[in-house]
Amino acid sequence: MSISDNLQAVRHRIADVAHACGRDPAGITLLAVSKTKPDDSIIAAVAAGQLAFGENYVQEGCDKAQRLAAAGYRLDWHFIGPLQSNKTRQVATWFDWVHSIDREKIAQRLSEQRDIAKPPLNICIQVNVSGEASKSGIAPGELEALADALARLPRLRLRGLMAIPEPTDDVALQRTRFAHLRQLRDDLNARGHNLDTLSMGMSQDLEAAIAEGATIVRVGTALFGARG
Ligand SMILES: *Cc1c(COP(=O)(O)O)cnc(C)c1O
Repeated sequence: MSISDNLQAVRHRIADVAHACGRDPAGITLLAVSKTKPDDSIIAAVAAGQLAFGENYVQEGCDKAQRLAAAGYRLDWHFIGPLQSNKTRQVATWFDWVHSIDREKIAQRLSEQRDIAKPPLNICIQVNVSGEASKSGIAPGELEALADALARLPRLRLRGLMAIPEPTDDVALQRTRFAHLRQLRDDLNARGHNLDTLSMGMSQDLEAAIAEGATIVRVGTALFGARG
């Protein structure tokens, strides 16, 4: 299967589950996770109509964004990996979104470093909805204080929440995790936030995520094949 065929297949998966649960597929953004994949794979996806790409590693992601911009491509770059404070400037420069914020200090740096000529950097807070089965993301009990702090940062726009639940084939458990993230988003909105984004669901569990309200699904393997 080519990347173009894979894209068609994933778009069909998204549309099928959206229709099955009464959602408009247009409300679900497919983020193509291109980490470790070469520029040619990204260009093949662009040729098939894909515009949003996700990267996990700062140097690799910034290099790709810079090269492809220089080659004339206008793409949306989403940073979805762990971020250390000494790498924030590059991310603030080359990315449009960061999904993996779980500390105020990192967000403050991104806000200070975001070029005034660019639109605000879109931010999601990564939440740990799997308890001890996961290490990354803020605990749900600390979410509201972080959201309140990030909403005050001038060069960021707090868009929503992201989660990477523990991998499981148990669809009921997948849905429990995603429903938890949606509930946390709804709770924040009930307290005055205006979050429109739930970044959840990957190659293996995007159906469960969409059924629970995902607005961005992050898909790598199903588009680009296994990573080496
Ligand atoms: C690698 C990665 C993905 C994509 O995972 P696949 O299983 O290849 O679809 C999505 N989100 C994050 C945060 C990732 O690191």
